[in-house]
Amino acid sequence: MKEGVMGATEETFLTPVVPLDFTYNYYIGQYLTRYFEGFKEKKILGSKCPGCAKIAVPPRKYCGVCNKVMEEMVELPQEGILENFTVGHVVMEKGGKLSPAEEPYVLGLIRLDDNASLLLHKVEGVDPGKVSVGMKVKAVWKDQVEGDYWDLDHFEPA
Ligand SMILES: [Zn+2]
Repeated sequence: MKEGVMGATEETFLTPVVPLDFTYNYYIGQYLTRYFEGFKEKKILGSKCPGCAKIAVPPRKYCGVCNKVMEEMVELPQEGILENFTVGHVVMEKGGKLSPAEEPYVLGLIRLDDNASLLLHKVEGVDPGKVSVGMKVKAVWKDQVEGDYWDLDHFEPA
């Protein structure tokens, strides 16, 4: 019997496996609700700070720079600049298990306005080996938008 911290032995510890598989409702708040309402008209909305004029996209209530309440919603352009990206080779399945992706995919940080925060989204239509920082990308929407996260399907080279 090995003795560890404060007299604890290997037998002292249990290693339970607790598989969690449940559904629950998560209230996204009024700002993300407005964001997804904009999706019904294929609009990308952000909240603009009355203090420093920064735009948060997706919108949020408080400015991350000066902490003022942001009440003004502004529409952002559909095109932007790819500021950074990563190429993914694994996907997370339900339950958190990682497995190899069918093919490499690109996740980009996209600037839709000089004053706006960066929007994280999939970038498709370009070889992952040929993606470059600074390239112009544009939003691609699902044909049938429903006002949810999946309406804005991906970005592609503009
Ligand atoms: Zn601000």
